[in-house]
Amino acid sequence: MSAAMSEIHLPLHDMPLRALAQALRSRQVSALEVSEHFLARMRQHQSLGAFLAVDEEVSRSQARMADERLAAGSTAPLEGVPLAHKDIFVTRDFPTTAGSRMLSGYRSPFDATVVQRLADAGVVTLGKLNCDEFAMGSANENSAATPVGFDAPAPVRNPWDRSRIPGGSSGGSAAAVAARLVPGATGTDTGGSIRQPASFCGITGIKPTYGRASRYGMIAFASSLDQAGVLAHSAEDCALLLSSVCGPDLDRDSTSLDRPAEDFTQGLEAPLNGLRIGLPQEFFGDGLAPGVRAAVDAALKEYEKLGARLVPIRLPRTELAIPVYYIIAPAEASSNLSRFDGVKFGHRARHYVDLLDMYKKTRAEGFGDEVKRRIMIGTYVLSHGYYDAYYLQAQKIRRMIADDFQQAFKDCDVIAGPVAPTVAWAIGAHGSDPLADYLADIFTLPASLAGLPGMSLPAGFGEDGMPVGLQLIGNYFQEARLLHAAHRFQQATDFHLRSPAGI
Ligand code: GLN
Repeated sequence: MSAAMSEIHLPLHDMPLRALAQALRSRQVSALEVSEHFLARMRQHQSLGAFLAVDEEVSRSQARMADERLAAGSTAPLEGVPLAHKDIFVTRDFPTTAGSRMLSGYRSPFDATVVQRLADAGVVTLGKLNCDEFAMGSANENSAATPVGFDAPAPVRNPWDRSRIPGGSSGGSAAAVAARLVPGATGTDTGGSIRQPASFCGITGIKPTYGRASRYGMIAFASSLDQAGVLAHSAEDCALLLSSVCGPDLDRDSTSLDRPAEDFTQGLEAPLNGLRIGLPQEFFGDGLAPGVRAAVDAALKEYEKLGARLVPIRLPRTELAIPVYYIIAPAEASSNLSRFDGVKFGHRARHYVDLLDMYKKTRAEGFGDEVKRRIMIGTYVLSHGYYDAYYLQAQKIRRMIADDFQQAFKDCDVIAGPVAPTVAWAIGAHGSDPLADYLADIFTLPASLAGLPGMSLPAGFGEDGMPVGLQLIGNYFQEARLLHAAHRFQQATDFHLRSPAGI
């Protein structure tokens, strides 16, 4: 039996996307059957809190249309494949909240470009996924939206241990994929929001080079950092999805790059011989949990066996990435979120005396604590008298961080290290200390500030048996190289195939 044949006998939710798409194309299974299978799993595992919107009839009708196209011989790469979108992408067929009270009840008149591109590739949308409010967070605990099946806002639970966070901000995306409620999902990464939840939930996720995926219709948090990407089980699945997600959108996104779409599934099988993997000394310091370190070290040994060479490198400004990011991101957020004023979108205060009072009450009621904190920090660092001291300095160091990477890439082809210093922590463990969340972003922020592509792939298990991700960072436009390196690792290991107990 060929590999593809044996994969067809797996349960639908364990099939690699390539095999699932092939089974759909050869009409061994219909798009409607596939969607029904996943919708049933979504109902069964509703208590994870991963979904903010589901509309089974809409999904069924999309699946029926995919079946009609399949009957007519469609060769679209993802025809009939079900996916779900982080609730930060606007969608016409489902409500969009960005995890905020501010947008409760909002429905977009159009689809985000990423959503549109995936629909053009044949995808059936199964719903919208929980996330931190306006993608601000590392644990999903900042979501102010009510998950499907709940009667109040609730954080997403990590399928590996339901008392823990799934990571954030794309926590619903990572939890849904890890629990096999969908075979893949979209996410966004401003400072680590694809890589970190992928790591915490034991799945694969990639954020492409800044500008490769359109930001049109992706609700803006920090525009110079926000980037769409995908989460799935394997690098090969991610390659398939990312090939449809990336591509120029010059008329609608001013930072979209004029770089043609690429088929990332090509070349995944080539040997790794001679790949130089740079290990930044700063990523392996004292703060790293021993179990995370052990899993990352073991993964690097595996890479050596596969023919890669490990090279020590320096990223000397790694620690500065935290203050720099937490100045620049709030600065941009404070400007982006000024559009939510009760006039054009979503929530408006019920009782007010005049226009100014309406703005104030709307924003006070509509935004959660973390969003307000960032608006205040952002407004402060941009204000006259502080701009030079904070914002301008942060921009200068941002440039130096990007230069450090270019220096490092003279000695290596990809950079590897941990995604986060620890495994997923317990819900509530960081309490009301936002700094504890910020500090945990240390290894993902540098690549975001530099606009580089980065990914996380399952590398093993650390403290309390929780998943650990290996982060790979590439130079600009090196997504294919990252996916290739990850795919070769996944051919030699099975961490990406493991599923949480009870799933
Ligand atoms: N944890 C980071 C933050 O809260 C990153 C979030 C993201 O990438 N969207 O800003």
